[in-house]
Amino acid sequence: MSTNLNIIGDCSEDIFYCTICKYPLITSKDFVSGAEFKSCNDCFLTFIESDISGWKNGKRPEKKKVNDYLLTKKKLNERKVKL
Ligand SMILES: [Zn+2]
Repeated sequence: MSTNLNIIGDCSEDIFYCTICKYPLITSKDFVSGAEFKSCNDCFLTFIESDISGWKNGKRPEKKKVNDYLLTKKKLNERKVKL
């Protein structure tokens, strides 16, 4: 079985994974955040919204904060699966 994929339109600027947490973009809010900030909505609310001008000027969260956040996000997702 072969599968052909045809891409219609220019999607070279689109992203499908958050550049901070590496999770896939799923919701429409994720894609809105992704288009402007290359992040999912969760990361936008956690790291970017409080300092949008800083983010646009290149300010990024500390690696330890991102790692702590990813650990929490992973635990929350595990709980969702167990329900
Ligand atoms: Zn993210």
